Amino acid sequence: MSGGCTYRGRIAPTPTGYLHVGHAATFRRAAERCEAAGGTMVFRLEDLDPLRCKPEYCDAALEDLRWLGLTWTEGPDVGGPCGPYRQSERRPHFLAAWRALRDGGWIYPCARSRKEVATSALAPHEEEPVFPPGWRVPVAQAREWADPAGTNWRFRVPDGEAVEFVDGHFGQTRRVAGVDFGDFLIWNRDNVPAYELAVVVDDIAMGITEVVRGADLLTSTARQLLLCRALGAPAPGFYHCPLVVDELGRRLAKRTGALALRTLREQGATPQSLWDRLKNGMF
Ligand code: GLU
Repeated sequence: MSGGCTYRGRIAPTPTGYLHVGHAATFRRAAERCEAAGGTMVFRLEDLDPLRCKPEYCDAALEDLRWLGLTWTEGPDVGGPCGPYRQSERRPHFLAAWRALRDGGWIYPCARSRKEVATSALAPHEEEPVFPPGWRVPVAQAREWADPAGTNWRFRVPDGEAVEFVDGHFGQTRRVAGVDFGDFLIWNRDNVPAYELAVVVDDIAMGITEVVRGADLLTSTARQLLLCRALGAPAPGFYHCPLVVDELGRRLAKRTGALALRTLREQGATPQSLWDRLKNGMF
């Protein structure tokens, strides 16, 4: 690491299964960009969902990434000044953010389930359908809540506002609030912070300067930029990696089991053979 460099990147897997080649491609790009900038790499386990995240997947993620040759200087196994680096141990930070959003009038309690929202869509929607504005609850009601337990919480998006950012890979990117995405969950009914909130809170707390991740999260980035603004924090830069596809151009997600890094390793793959195969963004 070169003196005075402020680049801070992160590798942030969700341990709900074994890491696959798509993760390898994204995390390698994250490592390359961090290294090129002479930066610091943070490893963070996004193990918030107690039902789906398993300790064996956490251990496996660390092991698989080490096998790939990826390294970090802050993380659950090595410590660091911004820890803990497991989201399951960072609840006080998420609660503090929830309080700030409540006090700032940005969020409201929402009794509607994801299922109701999914079936509410007037038109078929590629991602999560836009939350019907008619179902909004006045944000003033939020102030009556001392803590978030017992219901879903949503962020009220500024309808019609274009959220724009320059992505390191895709360039100028634009999503319109209320059109491309609607009021989104920041806290789940099961009393677990939602992905969007946890990621933003931790990227701020850990001083991340560039987020490198898959292109499937481009719309999430627009949501997260709104959250950063609401929390009064500067936003990091973003670099979204094209998703790895098969020879027919299909996303690999459907057959991740067969493409788990440990399965490939057992079959004799080496990190170099993986990088060679991934060269064209295909596997
Ligand atoms: N933990 C998320 C995942 O594994 C990535 C979060 C992010 O990069 O913002 O898909």
